Amino acid sequence: MATAVAIGTMKVAQISKPGAGFQIVEREIPEPAFGQVRIKVQACGVCHSDMFVKDGLWPGIEYPRVPGHEVAGIIDEIGPGVSAWKKGQRVGVGWHGGQDNTCVECRRGRFLYCRSPRVAGISYDGGYQQYMVAPIEALASIPDTLSDAEAGPLLCAGVTTFNALRHGGASPGTLVAVQGVGGLGHLGVQFASKFGCKVVAIGRGAENATLANKLGAAIYIDSASTNAAQELQKLGGAQVILATAPNSKSMAELIDGLAPTGKLMVVGISTDPMAVTPLQLIIGERSIRGSAVGTPSDSEDTMNFANLTGVRPMIETYPLEQADEAYARMMSGKAQFRVVLTM
Ligand SMILES: [Zn+2]
Ligand SMILES: [Zn+2]
Repeated sequence: MATAVAIGTMKVAQISKPGAGFQIVEREIPEPAFGQVRIKVQACGVCHSDMFVKDGLWPGIEYPRVPGHEVAGIIDEIGPGVSAWKKGQRVGVGWHGGQDNTCVECRRGRFLYCRSPRVAGISYDGGYQQYMVAPIEALASIPDTLSDAEAGPLLCAGVTTFNALRHGGASPGTLVAVQGVGGLGHLGVQFASKFGCKVVAIGRGAENATLANKLGAAIYIDSASTNAAQELQKLGGAQVILATAPNSKSMAELIDGLAPTGKLMVVGISTDPMAVTPLQLIIGERSIRGSAVGTPSDSEDTMNFANLTGVRPMIETYPLEQADEAYARMMSGKAQFRVVLTM
């Protein structure tokens, strides 16, 4: 049964305190302030990092808070001082929700490393609502051929894997391994394949082999039944290993599978230490590097690349009112692969 929303109010899925479930409440539609736009949200991805809000794991969050940093929608109002963005334009907001423009990193033009960054859905209310206000430095333009529900996950999982691969040296013809065929990995396999790399997907168990091949992997390695690092060396060694599954032990086991100068690009979040000997890195001058999402212009690169090549996230959609179910589905690890709320 559809519930009518009075003019001037909107539906919001908020977390009222750490550990609480999602509350569906009505709020007044916000007005954009100077340098901001209001977005009529069409879709918002549900990301594992939303647990920072749900469980209060990020310092300084003010509650109630509306999570959501995989936002796709249409600008429906612009605030004072905004000239580069227009009403009716399709835009997305990802993790990078703004910067201070004054710190040493911003002055170097390195906004991703801003010392006082703002995160959408953490520093201010995100996309689990019908309307959202965002600063213009958080906006990424969405190409016409991408649906809103497809664009959402590209603004976080997409740009994370796309940036890690391109900055890790996944150039045409190189051997690239993607550890984990899940929310991040299924995009990593597609991007690397479309970059013209020979892609090896690494998973635990054989069940994802068919899917990995369908997504563009030339080879599938079951790390539960074989030594994946040895298998990679038989293929010549990987120039890039994109480590997406948040398991430090599985990541460390792959280091010996790197080619000389190869990089283990770490994007799966774990707080456990990773075991590696200096010798493993010295021989062949191999390295381990972290990679953190990207700026809105990186998100535009990601979406434009997806537009050109047909890379798409695999998604399951839920209506906003079922934010609790959607979040539980994401946390279960059983979703194929990204969960997206639609408004
Ligand atoms: Zn995310
Ligand atoms: Zn800054």
